[in-house]
Amino acid sequence: MTIADNIRHIREGIAAAARRSGRSPEAIRLMAVTKRVDDARIREALRAGVEIVGENYVQEAKRKQEALGKSDPWHLIGHLQTNKAKVAVQLFDMIHSVDRWELAAELDRRARAAGRTLEVLIEVNVAGEKTKSGVPLAQAPDLIRAVAPLPNLAIQGLMTMPPWFDDPEEARPYFRALRELRDRIDAEALPRVEMGELSMGMTGDYAVAIEEGATIVRIGRGIFGERQ
Ligand SMILES: *Cc1c(COP(=O)(O)O)cnc(C)c1O
Repeated sequence: MTIADNIRHIREGIAAAARRSGRSPEAIRLMAVTKRVDDARIREALRAGVEIVGENYVQEAKRKQEALGKSDPWHLIGHLQTNKAKVAVQLFDMIHSVDRWELAAELDRRARAAGRTLEVLIEVNVAGEKTKSGVPLAQAPDLIRAVAPLPNLAIQGLMTMPPWFDDPEEARPYFRALRELRDRIDAEALPRVEMGELSMGMTGDYAVAIEEGATIVRIGRGIFGERQ
């Protein structure tokens, strides 16, 4: 299977899951997650067509963009240290991992200095796992209300990474909880807060995530094979 074959296969899976849940496949964007993937294989994926490049690490993204250029949107999906906010603002079109006030305030400051508005998602740790980033579910509404007025950030929705399960059905309640949070926030109609995006679902569980409302699925192994 080539990378183009893998992408075709995932697209079919996206379309099937969308159909099952009465959604349009066009409402779901495919992100290629490129952590630890070499430049030649990323180039293949870009040629075969993905909507978004997703990176976990700021330094890795910087090096890759220098090698590959940047014709597609690049999104940061990994944990972001506040002291890397400045570089992140230079490299990424959207940041999925905003999970605390200090980081949001620093990104806003750096985006203002760069003369741009930065699109962000609020990362929610739905299961409350100690080892994972993300704002706890119960604190997410307060964080969103606090971040919303920052003039150079534009909240576009929510992101989550559920606990790891062999059976993707077991991830469903976490995806559903994120969608329900999205609906509650949306109902508040906070100024400057968009809730259009739900970034959820990876290689093992993207079909379930789409059934629960995902608009961006983040696929690494399903496109590039197992990581080294
Ligand atoms: C690595 C990673 C993915 C992709 O996982 P796969 O199982 O390889 O599809 C998605 N989201 C995040 C945040 C990741 O770190």
